Amino acid sequence: MTQKARILVVEDEAAIRSGLADVFVYHGYEVDTAADGNDGLRKALSGRFDLVLLDVMLPGVDGFEICNRIRQQDRRQPVIMLTAKSSDEDIVQGLTLGADDYVAKPFSVTQLVLRVQAVLRRSGIAGELAREIRLNNGLVIDSENLSAGDIVFTRREMDLLQYLAQQADRPVAREELLARVWGYANHMEIETRTVDIHIAKLRRKIESDPSNPRAIITVRGAGYRILLADQ
Ligand code: CA
Repeated sequence: MTQKARILVVEDEAAIRSGLADVFVYHGYEVDTAADGNDGLRKALSGRFDLVLLDVMLPGVDGFEICNRIRQQDRRQPVIMLTAKSSDEDIVQGLTLGADDYVAKPFSVTQLVLRVQAVLRRSGIAGELAREIRLNNGLVIDSENLSAGDIVFTRREMDLLQYLAQQADRPVAREELLARVWGYANHMEIETRTVDIHIAKLRRKIESDPSNPRAIITVRGAGYRILLADQ
């Protein structure tokens, strides 16, 4: 029998917390919950969970701080944030702190379950992908350690790099990246912008002049293309 994936739900609103716990137990997951930031932080840092579902507004330590602390300890721990509002500011802050994904309240339970499944699938297959990505600008990216020298990548950034590297012979459309890297079948405008936000963040990390990119280029009307060392 395969082991059940374990999910930690950190949410102070009792109705949402117990509702989420029921939904994920129903879908075959093992679920633990935390009702405030301090308990959430302690459990999230225990390393016992395959995924942490993290509300932003919490009594005690807030969700952004918890995400930050998780990342300091373990860059690979999958985290999905539940943002109270879908304002860009919240989303950008969550992504900057390294959440793998975010879901804006009020959310559709079906959507949330699909996102959780996509994040767990990506974290499960990460070990099968290329160990190193060598860019044409000389940078060598270590996929396992999510780093290149002093540069540190989020798991999502690494997934993006991996997918672009697998398709290095062609530009990849933003819609395809959303479907293959994020697992979104149907996207909205805000989500297409998510791809651009991640590409911009990646360029600031890997390009010597991010305004004139050489390693991840924009192909007008077609999408983004990565240029590897042997191209
Ligand atoms: Ca809350």
